[in-house]
Amino acid sequence: MAATAIRFFELNTGAKIPSFGLGTWQSDPGVVADAVTTAIKAGYRHIDCAQIYGNENEIGGALKKLFAEGLVKREELWITSKLWCNNHAPEDVPKALDQTLQDLQLDYLDLYLIHWPVSMKKGSVGFKPENLSQPDIPNTWKAMEGLHDSGKARAIGVSNFSTKKLGDLLAVARVPPAVNQVECHPSWHQQKLHAFCKSKGIHLTGYSPLGSPGIRSIKSDILTNPIVTMLAEKLGKTPAQVALRWGLQMDHSVIPKSTKEARINENFDVFDWSIPEDLFAKFSEIHRRGLLRVLHLCMRL
Ligand code: NAP
Repeated sequence: MAATAIRFFELNTGAKIPSFGLGTWQSDPGVVADAVTTAIKAGYRHIDCAQIYGNENEIGGALKKLFAEGLVKREELWITSKLWCNNHAPEDVPKALDQTLQDLQLDYLDLYLIHWPVSMKKGSVGFKPENLSQPDIPNTWKAMEGLHDSGKARAIGVSNFSTKKLGDLLAVARVPPAVNQVECHPSWHQQKLHAFCKSKGIHLTGYSPLGSPGIRSIKSDILTNPIVTMLAEKLGKTPAQVALRWGLQMDHSVIPKSTKEARINENFDVFDWSIPEDLFAKFSEIHRRGLLRVLHLCMRL
């Protein structure tokens, strides 16, 4: 396979989402500003944020400084954020976006996602059974469509939606979702979901593209997986680069998180080489390990 750069994917809105973004979950206040600044200086043009990560304020400060210094222009960046589950009531959706815009010090987002298809009572914290409420995704989506109409969210989408939930949403949507952001990496390929998304013109962004090795209670094996390490050795790349390049060649955008300068740079070195077809086929031998991680995420939030 010839090395293609795969810098962007075109969305059903016509916008081009940069294929490679910086994740910011668990990037603590105090370090996230430096991580965002380092990434943008390294060439990243896509930052993945969420209100629930508790660090949008600091990211906003970093962006403001980068704009003021002329290092990047707002229109050169792709900023995604996400609506948290306790703001699903239609009247709360625009308020949640306004808070995110205020924290990020921006006038608009490039992409706003419903973070989970799970609703929680207003003001509640954590995925505890007592906090859950009956989701009404069609009405939440109508409010998201209003944000799209207003121009404050140039594209709207969802996260953690199954084919069933996406199908239900497509049946009622006036503006179809542009993106479904889901866990996706060499040990969870999301083949069926990705095929469904493609058939409906929905782009798939893969989160935890390194398998979230920072979560200690679930031992991630992607970066030490024998197939990934064998491929890394053959290609003269690191296991993280191989995992990320796999995502790009699968047509996913990828949003690895790091707060370490060396890793931010290492991860971004995925554009001028590719995994040849015969080696790419080896990824089908890696076993699925994603579901446990989703359960773990649910418990943490
Ligand atoms: P990830 O990007 O797969 O892994 C991040 C972990 O890998 C961090 O502990 C990081 O540590 C480490 N790391 C980064 N580069 C590395 C390298 N080259 N070698 C070794 N270790 C490396 O996991 P993630 O944070 O779960 O997912 C990425 C982003 O996806 C999140 O930050 C968030 O923006 C998004 N996300 C979205 C959802 C959703 O529900 N929509 C859920 C989860 C995540 P250091 O920081 O110490 O380098």
